Amino acid sequence: MTEKIATTDGGAPVPSVEHSLSVGPDGPILLQDHYLIEQMDNFNRERIPERQPHAKGGGAFGHFEVTNDVSQYTKAAVFQPGVKTEMVARFSTVAGERGSPDTWRDPRGFSLKFYTSEGNFDMVGNNTPVFFVRDPMKFQHFIRSQKRMAATNLRDHNMQWDFWTLVPESAHQVTYLMGDRGIPKTWRHMNGYSSHTYSWINANDEMFWVKYHFHTDQGVDYLTQEDADRIAGEDGDYHQRDLYDAIEAGNHPTWTLKMQIMPFEDAASYRFNPFDMTKVWPHADYPLIEVGKMTLDRNPADYHSEIEQLAVEPSNFVPGIGPSPDKMLLGRMFSYPDAHRARIGVNYNQLPVNAPKSPVNNYSTAGRMRFRNATDPVYAPNSKGGPRADVSRYGEPAGWPVSGEMVHAAQTLHAEDDDWGQAGTLVRVVLSDAERDRLVSNIVGHLLDGVTEPVLQRAFEYWHNVDTDLGDRVEKGVRTAQF
Ligand code: NDP
Repeated sequence: MTEKIATTDGGAPVPSVEHSLSVGPDGPILLQDHYLIEQMDNFNRERIPERQPHAKGGGAFGHFEVTNDVSQYTKAAVFQPGVKTEMVARFSTVAGERGSPDTWRDPRGFSLKFYTSEGNFDMVGNNTPVFFVRDPMKFQHFIRSQKRMAATNLRDHNMQWDFWTLVPESAHQVTYLMGDRGIPKTWRHMNGYSSHTYSWINANDEMFWVKYHFHTDQGVDYLTQEDADRIAGEDGDYHQRDLYDAIEAGNHPTWTLKMQIMPFEDAASYRFNPFDMTKVWPHADYPLIEVGKMTLDRNPADYHSEIEQLAVEPSNFVPGIGPSPDKMLLGRMFSYPDAHRARIGVNYNQLPVNAPKSPVNNYSTAGRMRFRNATDPVYAPNSKGGPRADVSRYGEPAGWPVSGEMVHAAQTLHAEDDDWGQAGTLVRVVLSDAERDRLVSNIVGHLLDGVTEPVLQRAFEYWHNVDTDLGDRVEKGVRTAQF
């Protein structure tokens, strides 16, 4: 192997990587030792702000291969029969900071970037099909309630339950979170969901409402609260290590993508508001349609460049895929690119992990850390042959009609909409007796960890509203332990 000669960042060989330049061996060090200064400069600036939220995570590269024909629903190149697309995935916890344990009870981020032939398509999902709130106005407050108190800088269950019990729409997600799926065994053993409703548009410009379900082929599996607590002490990076080691060992995890697809016209009269992120569409109403398989088979070479600087954004659509009236999605479409600009810089999309593998022709120029050359003309319209929009192929996507006064108001209720029903179905119909027992135990343990009156009383009412028996058991469990 040829020996590597140490250089400055400017590429010039350096005289020493061990000793600074000083006046005699014991004398003061000299400011002219610019290599020493470069080392300190680099060290002092090597951290970028962590994500707020989803700071702790890991990821890997792979590909997605279409195994079915869904071209009647979407013209997206990435979902045409037989197409194979390179991609990257990032998994994360939500509330914990960058060094926090992987096994804290929390939803898990499930973010995907597909480098399609028509630009990047990102799905910024979670391992749960629903979310805590349905309006982006509440999102910031929800996350703060899960993070740290201003004075103590401590996480606080009282703060978490204060928020949840004052926001009944959170009940479905909190039920899911307190159940087994609130602590996945590994990232390989969890499903990923778009949670949001998106639109798909076919070659005839017909529009469908869709939800993405990435089902793990490793099987869904979980950690008990006791095991998760123990592992948090033994190995805070348990999930990150598992994914890295599995891929290094050639044990490549896979997920099967299945879609729920709703005809455009169904939305208005569907029994649940289909654009409410706190609700699922029952499988019996819209059965899962298989699309293809995602395989992760390559670890990042440099965590910082390829995972910490990975910027996924729900606004990355490609022809054939679009948004829906889901207010949370519409809010996140602004919030995510804004967060990337704040955290990484305005030219974050030029970093190799974020850059599309399809041609980029646009009128963006300059800005900090730009390294892809802008080309003339830098304005439009122009008579110089600059990029132009092809209205016949990529004109206005199919949309949905809107009208009304400007209001601050909750989404329209559909026939069976309420905040407790689907959570109750999960408890009564889906969970086994053993799963229900663990749900009760997890909730009781969480409430006993610092939740005080009157929040505690509201929590009992909250669980009574989800399911009377569950509410009774939670109240009894807490009161018995207290006295
Ligand atoms: P189904 O019986 O068709 O689906 C129930 C689904 O619940 C399963 O397919 C599985 O989702 C998921 N599930 C299984 N065990 C657990 C668990 N321990 N914790 C959380 N979820 C679990 O019924 P419906 O479609 O009518 O839904 C009934 C309830 O199931 C919903 O109210 C919702 O709470 C929950 N659910 C529904 C999903 C949906 O998209 N319809 C998705 C996930 C949960 P999966 O197949 O995705 O693993």
